[in-house]
Amino acid sequence: MTTDLRGLTPAPPEPEHLPYPDADVLDVASLLDPAERRSLEAIRAYLHDVVRPLAIDYWNREEFPFELLPGLAEVGLGEIELGGTSRLYRGLVYAETSRADVSISALVGIHNELIVGMLSELGSPEQRERWLPRLRRFEALGAFALTEPDHGSDVAGGLETTARRDGGEWVISGRKRWAGLGTIADVALVWARDAADNQIKAFLVETDRPGYRAQKIPHKIGLRIIPNADIELDEVRIPASNHLPGATDFSTANRMLRSSRAWVGWQAVGVQLAAFDVAREYSLERRQFGRPLAGFQLIQQPLSEILGNAQASLGMMVQVARLQEEGRLEMLHAAMGKATGTRLVRESVAKARGILGGNGVTSEYHAAKIFGDAEIMYTYEGTYEINSLIVGRAVTGVSAFR
Ligand SMILES: Cc1cc2nc3c(=O)[nH]c(=O)nc-3n(C[C@H](O)[C@H](O)[C@H](O)COP(=O)(O)OP(=O)(O)OC[C@H]3O[C@@H](n4cnc5c(N)ncnc54)[C@H](O)[C@@H]3O)c2cc1C
Repeated sequence: MTTDLRGLTPAPPEPEHLPYPDADVLDVASLLDPAERRSLEAIRAYLHDVVRPLAIDYWNREEFPFELLPGLAEVGLGEIELGGTSRLYRGLVYAETSRADVSISALVGIHNELIVGMLSELGSPEQRERWLPRLRRFEALGAFALTEPDHGSDVAGGLETTARRDGGEWVISGRKRWAGLGTIADVALVWARDAADNQIKAFLVETDRPGYRAQKIPHKIGLRIIPNADIELDEVRIPASNHLPGATDFSTANRMLRSSRAWVGWQAVGVQLAAFDVAREYSLERRQFGRPLAGFQLIQQPLSEILGNAQASLGMMVQVARLQEEGRLEMLHAAMGKATGTRLVRESVAKARGILGGNGVTSEYHAAKIFGDAEIMYTYEGTYEINSLIVGRAVTGVSAFR
């Protein structure tokens, strides 16, 4: 047994192995059938071995990793919503993607929930036939354009982008902000107000149409791999057939947002597992006072708290997935999953960053990247506050916002 540098207390034995190489300590994966479990393991290995190490460099350079798209398609991440798999499987895949990299998980999640999922539910047979074969292979990319410069939280009531019918065409005019992949997507799913009936509807706008202009929003503190865009739609003409027939008013958007909000709850699980992975590994390698950090009680406590937060979020999302499976998911459930998960994320990533000391503030190590990405999760898909107010409205019957 060694003694610490000041000879005050005997150091504990060196750890010989990691007792839980898999942070799924509650063995939630055992709820999957064997085929889904094998598939999840294969996806996890790919994400861990290929995506995670590459992502950090792209994150630092604020560049999109086109080279990863064929591999992501190969393991099925372009078509999760089309596969007929269980909700729990999809959630765990989303969590594993987020554990590897939050930006890549935003690419996969928005693509599946808001582009592929929306097209397959609300699109016409022709729209599905035209777009889904390429989208599911990541050979085409879509951008989801709802938020506007002057309307974020109040977009449902305030949306200003207009759609005017002109013979066999729609003419779309307005501005969008934050649309992920807006500068590189092949098609944007644009929400606009029909000038005739004042309803908010969804339209497929090919990004090479005259009048579509997108500019990347630079210098973000998180999600740096995803080019979020300011978009100008200057009298963009699209065929009448580009309107999504199932998207006739904002309640259709809300129905889809329920599911995508739940997806952020899964992202929250994954990023906390990432925080745990990074902090545990570092605490085992880094030595101070003559012993690994992992041997100090005040390091073991935050490690235990991060893991506990992750498992609490996971437990909640397992039940959210069950409700989804049974067709019983309400906005209350999705909003609570998103709000609670991202609240815990803030705590977890801060604790992980702290465990890395100074090395926690440079993105050469993963902790700083996770720390920045967590802030985006707190804000997008309805901010923490708005999702809390949705829960508040559901449990009191009184709306604190309109
Ligand atoms: C990196 C990133 C990616 C995104 N990706 C997309 C995308 O792909 N597509 C898309 O359409 N949008 C996207 N968004 C937009 C996102 O959904 C909005 O940022 C979000 O809805 C908040 O809107 P806002 O930024 O305009 O903030 P605001 O609505 O201006 O809110 C500012 C603050 O005020 C608070 N607030 C507002 N109203 C109330 C109220 N009534 N009571 C209490 N507090 C209130 C908010 O919670 C927040 O803290 C993205 C955003 C980010 C940052």
